[in-house]
Amino acid sequence: MRSALEQLLLPAECVVCHALASFERARELVCPLCRYRWRAVVPPWCERCGQPEPVFGACRICATWPAALQCVRSAVWLDPGARRAVHLLKYGGLPRIASDLAAALARVSLPVGVGVGGGDGGSPVLVPVPLSAARLRARGYNQSERLARALGDRWRWPVADVLVRTRETGSQTALTPVARLANVAGAFELCRVDFAFRNSNSALVLVDDVFTTGATIAAAAQALESAGARGIMGITFGRAVIPDFT
Ligand SMILES: [Zn+2]
Ligand SMILES: [Zn+2]
Repeated sequence: MRSALEQLLLPAECVVCHALASFERARELVCPLCRYRWRAVVPPWCERCGQPEPVFGACRICATWPAALQCVRSAVWLDPGARRAVHLLKYGGLPRIASDLAAALARVSLPVGVGVGGGDGGSPVLVPVPLSAARLRARGYNQSERLARALGDRWRWPVADVLVRTRETGSQTALTPVARLANVAGAFELCRVDFAFRNSNSALVLVDDVFTTGATIAAAAQALESAGARGIMGITFGRAVIPDFT
């Protein structure tokens, strides 16, 4: 109902570049050209965190991650077009754009050992990275939960919203990777004790909108690992090009 109303009231145009959309594409918020411009994150990369490896020495992004966090991948680099789409998802009151972003997410391959769409008991479970209660109230929705649901629809993987963010971690933008990790350490807890992943072989796949230094996903994985999870992965729509902190 709401979406039909939106289509009546809003001109059918791309929310990123404002090009007019053709009638048959009016349900999509991002036009094909803008999606085409999203730059996929591709190898060579660190097998664990998916970041291009440094020229010298070992990868510093994932060196301090909890052992259970095996692999994190992102769909696209956070160039201006992709950044605009994430901004609309988070701050533009456009949760429906999650469906457009999930189309790019669905092209990421995770080494889960289960065929996409395998609906048996071994299917991986998508776990959204939560917002704090205050931020959730202000925004009205969790963008990562919307992404997880849209991706879950495509892959037919269940979504388990089992984490809570116990404290606000503030802006991470100006912090170095080590400071970021300290900033978010202990910020997440398991909220659903009945969540039976302890006896399951299913991989847990954390879903977030953006990967910057990986500190947020590492802290969320830490909470799952403390609760007994063994196989944890992560997937994000965007990946920020990290400045060199050396
Ligand atoms: Zn466009
Ligand atoms: Zn790495």
